[in-house]
Amino acid sequence: MARSKGYPEALEKKLHDQRFYREDSTPDFTKRVEGISRTIAHMCYQCGTCTGSCPSAPRSTYRIRKFMRRAVLGLENEALNDPDLWLCTTCYSCTDRCPRDIAPT
Ligand code: SF4
Ligand code: SF4
Repeated sequence: MARSKGYPEALEKKLHDQRFYREDSTPDFTKRVEGISRTIAHMCYQCGTCTGSCPSAPRSTYRIRKFMRRAVLGLENEALNDPDLWLCTTCYSCTDRCPRDIAPT
């Protein structure tokens, strides 16, 4: 069962809602992610291979696929304030297996 991450109630509700609105988006965030990581995040088609390869996924609520989606949608706050981000072990399995050569790591 997922544990509470201590988000403010309003944000928790929004994250569970899964419907995001344009005003929540920071399009520049996607460009910054792509620039810093030298990857093509917007090419992600949400296949889930990265999460399926991730050793942290079965042991936690961390889902790299979700992070990729947030990056593509420009949801900077939701992406960077998710404490799960620190559960990445930098094993590079997702990068090795991504069919789009995106390098989620
Ligand atoms: Fe996106 Fe690549 Fe992950 Fe598939 S494996 S969800 S294309 S980042
Ligand atoms: Fe998961 Fe991080 Fe390994 Fe990718 S590099 S599979 S996100 S632990």
